[in-house]
Amino acid sequence: MGALLIRGGVLYPADSTDRVVADGSVLVADGVIVAAGPTAEVEAAVEPHHRAGLRVIDAHDRMILPGFVNAHWHEMFAMRFPFKGALRAASDRDDKPVFMALGGDVTQISMVFDAFHDHVDRLTPDEALAIARYSMWTQLRSGVTTLGDVGSLNKPEALARAARDLGMRITVSTWAADAVCAPGDSRFRRTRDTDLELQRIEQLLDECATSPDGLVRAWPTSVYGTNMSDELAAGFADLTARYDVPFATHVGALRNEADVMLAYYGATPVRRFAEAGLLSKRFTAVHCGFADAGERALLIEAGAHISHSPAKYGQAGESTLSETRAIPEFRRAGLDVSVSTDGAAVPLGGMPEAMRAVWQLYNEMYADPTEVLPTDALAMATRLPARSLDQAERIGSLEPGKQADLLLVPAGDWRYLLNPRPLEGFLSLGGSMDVETVVVAGRVLIEDGRSTALDEDALESEYLEALSSFTVRCLGVEADAVAATLRRRTETIERRRRAAAAHHTGWRQR
Ligand SMILES: [Zn+2]
Repeated sequence: MGALLIRGGVLYPADSTDRVVADGSVLVADGVIVAAGPTAEVEAAVEPHHRAGLRVIDAHDRMILPGFVNAHWHEMFAMRFPFKGALRAASDRDDKPVFMALGGDVTQISMVFDAFHDHVDRLTPDEALAIARYSMWTQLRSGVTTLGDVGSLNKPEALARAARDLGMRITVSTWAADAVCAPGDSRFRRTRDTDLELQRIEQLLDECATSPDGLVRAWPTSVYGTNMSDELAAGFADLTARYDVPFATHVGALRNEADVMLAYYGATPVRRFAEAGLLSKRFTAVHCGFADAGERALLIEAGAHISHSPAKYGQAGESTLSETRAIPEFRRAGLDVSVSTDGAAVPLGGMPEAMRAVWQLYNEMYADPTEVLPTDALAMATRLPARSLDQAERIGSLEPGKQADLLLVPAGDWRYLLNPRPLEGFLSLGGSMDVETVVVAGRVLIEDGRSTALDEDALESEYLEALSSFTVRCLGVEADAVAATLRRRTETIERRRRAAAAHHTGWRQR
């Protein structure tokens, strides 16, 4: 791979100074950043041995950003029919607040999460891979270069393979759960063999420790404290210590969670993780709006990491941010608070949308436009989540010696006219679809918004085929209903193919 010079854009390195370089460039060799800063300085760093095969990408009228690090995500695209269903009516007028809405009922959610386990086992390896590849492509295409899997409705081997096929990074996990807090009970019920759950994650940690390309890592994660026995918690603590890896869990996400955990397990959620010895700087608490005062103190004392998904809460009817303000208060107390997309069966708000949400919501909550500056929002999507995944040394900012994971986002149209701060314009009026170029480890994976190596129509067709067979075989949806829903989309793809072929033929004839 020859050297790469990305020249003359507005550079946001997202380093610890949060500086902005109005005329900036980045020089990359062997997948690693050699120089990042003012264009004149970076050009001066181009050595004779870089010049042979040097590729130059013009970044004029563009922002150069670090790749987004989405440290809390779940692959869920197999559930597109039943959840947020593809079979819904087009009108939204009869929608009701369910599942996580109105504070959420953690016992119901505990049951749903327990059932996910069986679905993962029922996916065939081919289905799992086709679904993973398409789902992860939607992340890559919107600028995510590194994913943190906090338990997926998919097989970790499929996620790891898909990351390598796509050329992106992932820290994989398992859907680890061995208990349930059933509605109407007063004590948790064990649903699975704890040792088997732990063996599965240990096997994954072993496999990823020897990953030669550096794209794939593994970490143990808990689906939810409600679905974790004390033995499973102790096993997680043992694995994180023995493999020297970080740990993540959903915790404090819902209003009745603490009461249920106290009744079913005898301790509130954050305290259970603390008692298991998991609370530390390498503990990522996902959501965590409903920790009580004592639990908040424990998290602050431990220097834990908080990951939240503000672009998704409103869509799901969750009041995680504004009801308690615990998350923005964690940030004020000095904890690393980062943004993530979470996961669903349809694409949720991406990282740009999460950045916009923290920029707007925090500033509104505190009536202060400097509470979260646009460059703070960027750090919350890049440098800070890289710490959550224990990869701050390698990724998350554009600095010499780090991996060349970066994005180009056009900033030359009417939205940016005479605005010396394009990131502000992007957070106001831009979004995931504006990401034009995606580079991982110096490889250009997306260019002009399209994959450079993979046929995107084929990725989609293979996804729909896998979705269809899984949905009919395992989810009890009528084959006719699935076929009718997919037919319309297949026809669209065919029409697009024919139009492209006709255009190509016409061009040749001319
Ligand atoms: Zn989640």
